[in-house]
Amino acid sequence: MPYHRGVVEALRDHGLTVGFCPGWETRGSSSFDPKGHVVHHDAGSPWTTPPGLLIAGRSDLPGPLCNFALARDGTVWMVAAGRANHAGTGSWKGLVGNSSVWGTEANNTGTGQTWPDVQVDAYARLCAATCDYSGFTAEMVCRHAEWTTRKIDPAGPWADGHDWSRDMSHFRALVAQGGTDLPLNDADLFSIGVIVKRSLDDADVATGADLDAVKAEVRADRRMTLDLVDAVARAAGVDPAKVRALLKPDTRAALDKVD
Ligand SMILES: [Zn+2]
Repeated sequence: MPYHRGVVEALRDHGLTVGFCPGWETRGSSSFDPKGHVVHHDAGSPWTTPPGLLIAGRSDLPGPLCNFALARDGTVWMVAAGRANHAGTGSWKGLVGNSSVWGTEANNTGTGQTWPDVQVDAYARLCAATCDYSGFTAEMVCRHAEWTTRKIDPAGPWADGHDWSRDMSHFRALVAQGGTDLPLNDADLFSIGVIVKRSLDDADVATGADLDAVKAEVRADRRMTLDLVDAVARAAGVDPAKVRALLKPDTRAALDKVD
């Protein structure tokens, strides 16, 4: 499986918006068997589509310079499905060389620019998607600064007060859980799920036989969460758009990413 095009489906399963740099399907070396993921910042100025540098490289380092490019709005751009030149000399938990690790360049100047919630959430989801797709755990996700002492990236403060330089274990925990928490907690989701299921006269739910299954479904599937919000609104005779407008901004941002 030299070119890992199937990762796109895993990205979408994790609720990510995906963009494509033409040629991504066969870009990079076909000698590529990732068992980890190195996260970077690009030290670049703000962009909405990935700069050519990340794709073509530079005179002293041929492209691609990453597999994924992560925009500040959380969009994940597919740069290369094959091996990319991003990590260089170094190692993480036995992994060595770019053929052993996915690499992401996230758009951030690296000079103290704050990382927006939506970008950090997307970064965790992106890493989680590669964990699922390639079969490794969140412990195999590292900063470039952990791969080698030559580097400092990614660096900088998150909007929620965390910081890359001291909170990598927190980031790995976010990867393990597939992203940051929605402000709707499990109990909220459970309640919504039960109300909707009951309104649909689901006999299993009415008898209490299937509550755990409902809870698991609701937790796992953000598309369902959006459907549930809409269904509750309609059941109450309210315009679903008005209910969504009442959600906290980050919940709304997360739900809006569901296509
Ligand atoms: Zn780096």
